[in-house]
Amino acid sequence: MALRNIVKMGDPLLKKVCRPVEKFDEKLHQLLDDMWQTLHHAEGLGLAAPQVGILKRVAIVEWEDQKFELVNPKLVKSSGRCVDNEGCLSVEGFRGLVARPETIDIEYFDRHGNKQTLHAEGYFGRVFLHEMDHLDGILFSDKMIKKIVDRG
Ligand code: ZN
Repeated sequence: MALRNIVKMGDPLLKKVCRPVEKFDEKLHQLLDDMWQTLHHAEGLGLAAPQVGILKRVAIVEWEDQKFELVNPKLVKSSGRCVDNEGCLSVEGFRGLVARPETIDIEYFDRHGNKQTLHAEGYFGRVFLHEMDHLDGILFSDKMIKKIVDRG
Protein backbone atom coordinates (compact mmCIF):
# COMPACT_ATOMS: atom_id res chain seq x y z
CA MET A 1 0.00 0.00 0.00
CA ALA A 2 1.08 3.52 -0.61
CA LEU A 3 -0.04 6.89 0.54
CA ARG A 4 -1.18 9.02 -2.39
CA ASN A 5 -1.19 12.80 -2.66
CA ILE A 6 -4.56 14.48 -2.36
CA VAL A 7 -5.34 16.80 -5.25
CA LYS A 8 -6.48 20.25 -4.08
CA MET A 9 -9.16 22.59 -5.35
CA GLY A 10 -7.98 24.55 -8.39
CA ASP A 11 -6.48 21.45 -10.02
CA PRO A 12 -8.33 20.72 -13.29
CA LEU A 13 -8.39 16.98 -12.42
CA LEU A 14 -11.17 17.70 -9.91
CA LYS A 15 -13.38 19.11 -12.69
CA LYS A 16 -13.32 16.06 -14.95
CA VAL A 17 -16.05 13.49 -15.45
CA CYS A 18 -14.53 10.12 -14.53
CA ARG A 19 -14.64 6.97 -16.65
CA PRO A 20 -16.40 3.79 -15.53
CA VAL A 21 -14.28 0.91 -14.30
CA GLU A 22 -14.29 -2.01 -16.72
CA LYS A 23 -11.79 -4.37 -15.14
CA PHE A 24 -12.08 -5.49 -11.53
CA ASP A 25 -8.44 -6.42 -11.41
CA GLU A 26 -5.37 -6.14 -9.23
CA LYS A 27 -4.84 -2.55 -10.36
CA LEU A 28 -8.28 -1.58 -9.02
CA HIS A 29 -7.58 -3.37 -5.72
CA GLN A 30 -4.27 -1.53 -5.41
CA LEU A 31 -6.02 1.80 -6.02
CA LEU A 32 -8.64 1.00 -3.36
CA ASP A 33 -6.01 -0.11 -0.83
CA ASP A 34 -4.02 3.07 -1.44
CA MET A 35 -7.17 5.18 -1.11
CA TRP A 36 -7.92 3.62 2.29
CA GLN A 37 -4.46 4.39 3.52
CA THR A 38 -4.73 7.94 2.20
CA LEU A 39 -8.18 8.45 3.76
CA HIS A 40 -7.08 7.19 7.17
CA HIS A 41 -3.97 9.33 7.07
CA ALA A 42 -6.08 12.40 6.25
CA GLU A 43 -8.79 11.42 8.77
CA GLY A 44 -11.71 11.92 6.42
CA LEU A 45 -15.06 10.18 5.95
CA GLY A 46 -14.71 9.57 2.25
CA LEU A 47 -12.43 9.86 -0.72
CA ALA A 48 -12.98 9.68 -4.47
CA ALA A 49 -10.42 8.47 -7.03
CA PRO A 50 -10.09 11.87 -8.78
CA GLN A 51 -8.91 13.26 -5.43
CA VAL A 52 -5.81 11.09 -5.84
CA GLY A 53 -5.55 11.99 -9.53
CA ILE A 54 -7.22 8.87 -10.98
CA LEU A 55 -10.16 9.63 -13.27
CA LYS A 56 -12.11 6.45 -12.59
CA ARG A 57 -15.56 6.01 -11.02
CA VAL A 58 -14.28 4.74 -7.68
CA ALA A 59 -14.93 6.09 -4.18
CA ILE A 60 -14.67 4.91 -0.59
CA VAL A 61 -16.71 5.83 2.48
CA GLU A 62 -16.14 4.98 6.11
CA TRP A 63 -19.10 5.37 8.43
CA GLU A 64 -19.28 4.13 12.03
CA ASP A 65 -16.58 1.51 11.43
CA GLN A 66 -18.27 0.25 8.27
CA LYS A 67 -16.19 0.49 5.13
CA PHE A 68 -17.76 0.89 1.71
CA GLU A 69 -15.97 0.57 -1.61
CA LEU A 70 -18.03 1.99 -4.45
CA VAL A 71 -17.20 1.18 -8.03
CA ASN A 72 -19.37 2.76 -10.75
CA PRO A 73 -21.95 3.98 -8.18
CA LYS A 74 -25.33 5.19 -9.38
CA LEU A 75 -28.11 7.04 -7.59
CA VAL A 76 -31.33 5.14 -8.26
CA LYS A 77 -33.78 6.92 -5.96
CA SER A 78 -33.83 9.95 -3.72
CA SER A 79 -36.34 11.89 -1.70
CA GLY A 80 -36.63 14.85 0.62
CA ARG A 81 -34.21 17.67 1.10
CA CYS A 82 -31.91 18.64 3.94
CA VAL A 83 -29.22 21.24 4.39
CA ASP A 84 -26.05 20.46 6.31
CA ASN A 85 -22.43 21.37 6.71
CA GLU A 86 -19.81 19.74 4.46
CA GLY A 87 -16.09 19.85 4.07
CA CYS A 88 -13.71 18.11 1.69
CA LEU A 89 -10.15 16.83 1.87
CA SER A 90 -9.49 18.69 -1.41
CA VAL A 91 -10.83 22.00 -0.14
CA GLU A 92 -8.80 23.87 2.45
CA GLY A 93 -9.90 26.79 4.57
CA PHE A 94 -13.66 26.56 4.36
CA ARG A 95 -16.72 24.36 4.64
CA GLY A 96 -20.18 25.04 3.30
CA LEU A 97 -23.89 24.42 3.69
CA VAL A 98 -25.19 22.15 0.95
CA ALA A 99 -28.75 21.00 0.19
CA ARG A 100 -29.06 17.32 -0.64
CA PRO A 101 -31.75 14.62 -0.63
CA GLU A 102 -32.66 13.25 2.77
CA THR A 103 -32.86 9.59 1.75
CA ILE A 104 -31.18 7.81 -1.11
CA ASP A 105 -30.90 4.41 -2.73
CA ILE A 106 -27.73 3.67 -4.62
CA GLU A 107 -26.34 0.82 -6.66
CA TYR A 108 -22.67 0.11 -7.05
CA PHE A 109 -20.18 -2.68 -7.61
CA ASP A 110 -17.73 -3.95 -5.04
CA ARG A 111 -14.06 -4.57 -5.82
CA HIS A 112 -14.88 -8.01 -7.19
CA GLY A 113 -17.56 -6.76 -9.58
CA ASN A 114 -20.55 -7.88 -7.49
CA LYS A 115 -23.53 -5.55 -7.63
CA GLN A 116 -24.59 -4.04 -4.30
CA THR A 117 -27.47 -1.85 -3.22
CA LEU A 118 -27.66 0.51 -0.29
CA HIS A 119 -30.31 2.67 1.35
CA ALA A 120 -28.98 5.62 3.32
CA GLU A 121 -30.43 8.56 5.20
CA GLY A 122 -29.25 11.86 6.61
CA TYR A 123 -25.53 12.55 6.89
CA PHE A 124 -24.70 8.93 6.01
CA GLY A 125 -26.34 9.36 2.62
CA ARG A 126 -24.81 12.81 2.25
CA VAL A 127 -21.29 11.36 2.40
CA PHE A 128 -22.08 9.03 -0.52
CA LEU A 129 -23.60 11.86 -2.56
CA HIS A 130 -20.59 14.09 -1.89
CA GLU A 131 -18.20 11.36 -3.10
CA MET A 132 -20.37 10.52 -6.12
CA ASP A 133 -20.37 14.22 -7.12
CA HIS A 134 -16.56 14.05 -7.30
CA LEU A 135 -16.90 11.42 -10.03
CA ASP A 136 -18.74 13.99 -12.16
CA GLY A 137 -16.25 16.77 -11.45
CA ILE A 138 -18.46 18.50 -8.88
CA LEU A 139 -17.20 19.87 -5.56
CA PHE A 140 -19.43 20.85 -2.63
CA SER A 141 -18.24 24.41 -3.20
CA ASP A 142 -19.94 24.35 -6.64
CA LYS A 143 -23.35 23.87 -5.02
CA MET A 144 -23.07 25.30 -1.52
CA ILE A 145 -25.68 27.81 -0.45
CA LYS A 146 -23.48 29.35 2.23
CA LYS A 147 -19.73 29.37 2.74
CA ILE A 148 -18.40 28.78 6.24
CA VAL A 149 -14.86 30.00 6.75
CA ASP A 150 -12.75 28.09 9.28
CA ARG A 151 -11.30 30.34 11.94
CA GLY A 152 -8.30 28.45 13.18
ZN1 ZN B 1 -14.73 15.82 -1.25
